Amino acid sequence: MDTIDNTFLPPHCTYRDCSQFHTPVGNTWFLKCGTHSTKAHGIVQRFRCRHCHRTFSRQTFDLDFCAKKRINWQDICSVVKNSISDRAFARYIQVSPSTVGHKLSRLSKWSQLYHHQQIIDHNLQENVCADGIETFVTSQFYPGHVNLLVGSESQFSYGWDFCFLRRKGRMTNAQKAKRAQIEMTWKIPRGALKKSFQRGVAKPLAKLGSQTILEKVIINTDEHPLYSKALTGDKSLASLFSEGICIHQTVNSKDHRDTNNPLFSVNYMDREIRKDLANHVRETTRHSQEPNMMMDRMTVYLVQHNTEKRFRIKAPKGMGTKHWIVAGIKPETVINPRKGKFRERPWFTEDFEESFKILWKREIPRPHGTPKRIQANFWMA
Ligand SMILES: [Zn+2]
Repeated sequence: MDTIDNTFLPPHCTYRDCSQFHTPVGNTWFLKCGTHSTKAHGIVQRFRCRHCHRTFSRQTFDLDFCAKKRINWQDICSVVKNSISDRAFARYIQVSPSTVGHKLSRLSKWSQLYHHQQIIDHNLQENVCADGIETFVTSQFYPGHVNLLVGSESQFSYGWDFCFLRRKGRMTNAQKAKRAQIEMTWKIPRGALKKSFQRGVAKPLAKLGSQTILEKVIINTDEHPLYSKALTGDKSLASLFSEGICIHQTVNSKDHRDTNNPLFSVNYMDREIRKDLANHVRETTRHSQEPNMMMDRMTVYLVQHNTEKRFRIKAPKGMGTKHWIVAGIKPETVINPRKGKFRERPWFTEDFEESFKILWKREIPRPHGTPKRIQANFWMA
C-alpha cells in the first residue's frame, strides 16, 4: 500500500514547547526527513522541525495516529446514531469491543474541537432552553443527568455536561439496603448537579450571551430550584442577568409538551437521544459501563445531530435544511461531508469549555474510584 501524500504540508510543529507549535511562519520551518513503511497506513512521510530538531510524520496529524487498524469513521458515526451497541458493531466487523471504544473516543475528541470551532465566535440568534436528561451508567444504582443547552428555534445543542445523582424514587427494602451499602464507599460529591449545570449550560450561555445579536436572550428551564441557583451563581452569567441581556424563565414541567412549549427543544432532544442512542433507550440492556465513554458517545451524537441531521425529516425535497443553518452557525466552520471529513487529528486547546476539558482528559469521576482508563499521552501533547 502506498499512501504517501506529496501535497501535505505540516501546519505546525507537533511539540507544544516549540515556538513553531503555535505560530509557524511559512513553509521553511520544517524539512522532509525520509519515509517509513507501516502496515496500517502504507508509506508515511517524516518531517524534521528546524527549530527544535525533533521529527514527526504525516501520521502525527492524522486522526488514525498510532492506530494499528483503520476503520471507516463514517461507520463509527452510524453505530452511534442508529441505536447499535459497540459490541454488536465489534462482532459485525470482527474486531474487539475495545477497538470500537478507542475509535469512539477519538471521534469524540474530533467532535469536541469541531463543535468548539463552530461556537467560539458564534453570534447567538435565538432563545435557548436547558434541562437534564436522566440516564444511568453501570446500573440503575448510578443514575445521572446529561445537562443540555439547546437552541429554542434550531434544536442546535450548544453545551452539555454529565454528573451522577443519588438514586431516588420508589425502592424495595432490598434496594434501599443496597444503596446504603454503595454509599458506604462512594457518595455523590456535594453540589455535583449545580456544578455540572454551570459547566454544561451556564458557561456556554455566558459566552454566547456576550456575543448575541439579540437585545435579550431568554433561557427557559423547568422549575427545578437548583437550575435558578446554578444560573445566577455563575459570575459571568450573573452580570448578563443584571444588565437584562439574559432572562431566566421557568416552565411547569406538567405543561402540555408540544411545539408551543418553551421547553420543546430539550423535550425533542430527550426523545431523539432515547430513540437513537442504544445506551439511553428506556429499560435498556445496552447501558454504558463508564461515564467518560458514555459522554464520548453522546458528544459524537450531538455534534452529528447539529451538523448532519435534517432539521425536519418531513420537509419537502429541496426545502430540507440542517440544525446548524437554522442556528446561524458560520458556514466556513462546518465541513462539507463530501469533502474529506474525519482526517485531521484534533489538538487540545486551553480555550475549551470546562466540560470539554474534563471529557478530553477523561476526568468524569467513576463510581468507587475505579481506575482511570489509560489514554495515550499524545492526546495532551
Ligand atoms: Zn519544533
